[in-house]
Amino acid sequence: MAEYIKHEHDVLVIGAGGAGLRAAVEASAAGVKVAVITKSLLGKAHTVMAEGGIAAALANTDDRDSWRVHFADTMRGGQYLNNWRMAELHAKEAPECVRELEAWGALFDRTPDGRILQRNFGGHRYPRLAHVGDRTGLEMIRTLQDHGIHLGLDVFMEYTVVTLVKDGNRVVGAFGYDRERGRFHLFQAKAVVLATGGIGRAYKITSNSWEYTGDGLALAYEAGAGLQDMEFVQFHPTGMIWPPSVCGLLVTEGVRGDGGVLRNKEGRRFMFDSIPPLYATQTADNEEEGWRYTQGDKNARRPPELLTRDHVARCIRTEVREGRGSPHGGVFLDIAWIKDRIPNAPEHIKKKLPSMYHQFMQLAGIDITKEPMEVGPTTHYMMGGVRVDAESQMTDVPGLFAAGESAAGLHGANRLGGNSLSDLLVFGKRAGDYAARFAKEHTQGKVNPDELAAAEMHALKPFENHGPAPYIIQYALQETMQDLVGIVRQEDEMLQALHTIEEYKKQAENAGVPGHREYNSGWHTALDLQNLIIVSEMVTRAALERKESRGAQFRDDYPAKSDEYAGFNIVVSKGASGEVTLRREPIPPMPDELKQIIQEMK
Ligand SMILES: Cc1cc2nc3c(=O)[nH]c(=O)nc-3n(C[C@H](O)[C@H](O)[C@H](O)COP(=O)(O)OP(=O)(O)OC[C@H]3O[C@@H](n4cnc5c(N)ncnc54)[C@H](O)[C@@H]3O)c2cc1C
Repeated sequence: MAEYIKHEHDVLVIGAGGAGLRAAVEASAAGVKVAVITKSLLGKAHTVMAEGGIAAALANTDDRDSWRVHFADTMRGGQYLNNWRMAELHAKEAPECVRELEAWGALFDRTPDGRILQRNFGGHRYPRLAHVGDRTGLEMIRTLQDHGIHLGLDVFMEYTVVTLVKDGNRVVGAFGYDRERGRFHLFQAKAVVLATGGIGRAYKITSNSWEYTGDGLALAYEAGAGLQDMEFVQFHPTGMIWPPSVCGLLVTEGVRGDGGVLRNKEGRRFMFDSIPPLYATQTADNEEEGWRYTQGDKNARRPPELLTRDHVARCIRTEVREGRGSPHGGVFLDIAWIKDRIPNAPEHIKKKLPSMYHQFMQLAGIDITKEPMEVGPTTHYMMGGVRVDAESQMTDVPGLFAAGESAAGLHGANRLGGNSLSDLLVFGKRAGDYAARFAKEHTQGKVNPDELAAAEMHALKPFENHGPAPYIIQYALQETMQDLVGIVRQEDEMLQALHTIEEYKKQAENAGVPGHREYNSGWHTALDLQNLIIVSEMVTRAALERKESRGAQFRDDYPAKSDEYAGFNIVVSKGASGEVTLRREPIPPMPDELKQIIQEMK
């Protein structure tokens, strides 16, 4: 018999980032009783790290912008594997969601005439990112958290969910423990929203926080939901590479949006050498035009540094591999050069990019107003995730919803910067709305005590084990994923990775931790590790299945895009006997109206 503390709510939201809080606010406003669970403290979820801004076609900085252009940009960025209905809803609803955030107290940077200022970002045709300096995530979280608390959310901080609870086919709650004391808790709910973020900690070099161990994806997979687009892991082109202690830390795309340029060790702006045909007509072919674009010239085209992240990351990798990299194995990102163009450049840089200035000054001893930064690719974002319905965000499993980075669909093969924060608002809101509706139509489900006892026993097993420390296995897994299923992939290496992951599975089952349950980080890691292993396997299997290069997936053995792979998403799920099943899910035909928009914007 499991020993646990019981809580009962109408809607349970797992995750207190932008998506979770927005879902909780919406559900609460619909008049149902809502709980939010977070592994960290309220206000500390990964969203707080977001820098550059929220993409929304407000058309404040360039009146040519509209939802139609945003839709076309998002689809092009995702290489047309996006769920087009999600891309449409996102482009249409993001402006209202940003205005709503402003009405709740978010203080965005302003245009001279007092409207929300928007900045340039990779893959967006017009300046589109509403921002607060380079601390936009902090403002989003602060605003949503204040608003949510006033609505009366029950918040459970420093709790980890280890399994979803089911009644037949339906999800009826979650089971987990509090990290402080290690006591078990049952959260019964009529509807559950997963908003647990991404999987970046499966890789050695990452911009992601410690929370990103793929828990939500693993929970959903175990509960029977499909995971989609798992092969598409985004490597952001500009992470810090030096000193080693901060390797992977993000350098926002806002640096390039505000005029920063990429150079190799010869001082050459190498991005002009490789402009993909899909973007050729939209990209500047000389430095002068690129500069004018960053300064708001409506007749100029964007500089090639603002091409999509997958492409820029691969170009940087090529420079390094061909011996033209910087001393620590990256390239140079230079914003200091704008002193040749504008007066008071150092003050301008500090005002536009305050966090970047402090980050480099304090962590690397570099003054970015005077010297270039050294940067290289870092694992940043998971386009794949739990498969959801576009309108409601419900997964394949009744009662289970997903939103934000843990859900898949909107971004297809590659996400545009800024489209995550707007994703959190648009689809967090929808998930909260539909979860509340579902809760109103259903009663609490039945809980099987034997299943809870089994879950508790499983969670406590690391204390009985005598195998390796979980950290050792986690580190080895991160190395494997970085080296064999990273930015450039090929079949033999991925097969080797799958084989090694099988070994890690066995080791993880025997991973042992000393001590007791109170704030035992070894124990937490042992449990997180199981999720990391599940998502790593799914990424590898999906990447093997997609025998082409598209968006974030680049295969050395299949370097071209293939028409054969253009029409479906790859979905993995758990088979009846516990085996991994993989299917090709055809993308439904796009309505003519949307096709026409894409055609017009080409
Ligand atoms: C440095 C950086 C800068 C970025 N800048 C931008 C930007 O400018 N614009 C943009 O659009 N995107 C940006 N992104 C991406 C964006 O920040 C994320 O995709 C987004 O914040 C994810 O939000 P989320 O609500 O889905 O998840 P998160 O904010 O990560 O929240 C996840 C929540 O789930 C909880 N959780 C996880 N597992 C469990 C569990 N087992 N039990 C209980 N709780 C759990 C966590 O504790 C946390 O509360 C950036 C990312 C990084 C790393």
